[in-house]
Amino acid sequence: MKLAARVEQVTPSLTLAIDAKAKAMRAEGIDICSFSAGEPDFDTPKHIVEAAKVALDQGKTRYGPAAGEPKLRQAIAQKLQHDNGLCYGAENVIVTNGGKQSLFNLMLALIEPGDEVIIPAPFWVSYPEMVKLAEGTPVILSTSVESGFKISPEQLRQAITPKTKLLVFNSPSNPTGMVYTPDEVRAIAQVVVEAGIWVVADEIYEKILYDGAEHLSIGAVGPEIYERTIVSSGFAKTYAMTGWRVGFLAGPVPIIQACVTIQGHSTSNVCTFAQYGAIAAYEGPQDCVKEMVSAFAERRKVMLDSLNAMPGITCPKPDGAFYVFPSIAKTGMTSQEFASALLDAQQVAVIPGIAFGADDCIRLSYATSLETIQMGMERLAKFMQSL
Ligand SMILES: *Cc1c(COP(=O)(O)O)cnc(C)c1O
Repeated sequence: MKLAARVEQVTPSLTLAIDAKAKAMRAEGIDICSFSAGEPDFDTPKHIVEAAKVALDQGKTRYGPAAGEPKLRQAIAQKLQHDNGLCYGAENVIVTNGGKQSLFNLMLALIEPGDEVIIPAPFWVSYPEMVKLAEGTPVILSTSVESGFKISPEQLRQAITPKTKLLVFNSPSNPTGMVYTPDEVRAIAQVVVEAGIWVVADEIYEKILYDGAEHLSIGAVGPEIYERTIVSSGFAKTYAMTGWRVGFLAGPVPIIQACVTIQGHSTSNVCTFAQYGAIAAYEGPQDCVKEMVSAFAERRKVMLDSLNAMPGITCPKPDGAFYVFPSIAKTGMTSQEFASALLDAQQVAVIPGIAFGADDCIRLSYATSLETIQMGMERLAKFMQSL
């Protein structure tokens, strides 16, 4: 069968593949310690669930505006003003099927064939593939453990060509968990403004921070960068709402309108009653977020202490999200060899770093129970000793 070239150059999601293998082994009764999940292990907070149930009872079950429920667009705009210092109104916001669709809409709205999109590595798996689906060219900037997995302003400046259209800026990062400091954000913003390119800030982990780390929205640095910034975020990670599929894109009105047009001919509105849950997430009490973050913090410490006690593993301390991204370079194995041998020998599931453009690292998520972390770390230590 002859499929479109567009889809043939896209790599299927490797993170989902490993997760599927681990789940299949578990279904066979094998006792797996899985660190592969890219989602919180908590249930959605009760008051959010209740708000969606009320919306269902009230008959919020019909088509809504493609851009989202006006009340939710308003709540998102208020949140962006209040938490991030970004001056947006409801007209600057589109509600999307997760942060994933928001980024995909943006690529379709902004990228033309041949346009270059700069993506710092390690990157979230979908960025380069979305760029390719929009017929643009991903330009990958590599970083290392030594640079804290961050790009420097100079590195960015050198990568910019007349074809550069957009920088993808993800802080806190999936997969590394690293967070750019406010000064680093300002320095990157300056390069973006000087070059006259766009930046999309993927801020889906902005509330999941540790040890006093601070998140600065790049668009809040000043009026010039504000005009060149698009924010992508969502409810999935902060409120344990991955399955609800509610996210958003915020930015200049012409871009948002273009995304509404695209969405109007593809998915239409996000599930109406799910949007009422999202309204409750932003307008209700925020203690649930604090509780989840403090649980993550405790697990993070246990995992980091164990990993750094293992010879052969070097693990930088991430300030955000719920991932660690240790280097396995000393083992001499590729990340896929390592992940596959570890799963077979010790039934521990991790994601090979190659999925994120870093073949000398693996990603472990600590969005799982302390017991799983303790047992998994013992097994990983045994595996390292066996090498
Ligand atoms: C999870 C995630 C998203 C989007 O997730 P949705 O479930 O679509 O909201 C976007 N960016 C990064 C870096 C993520 O980890």
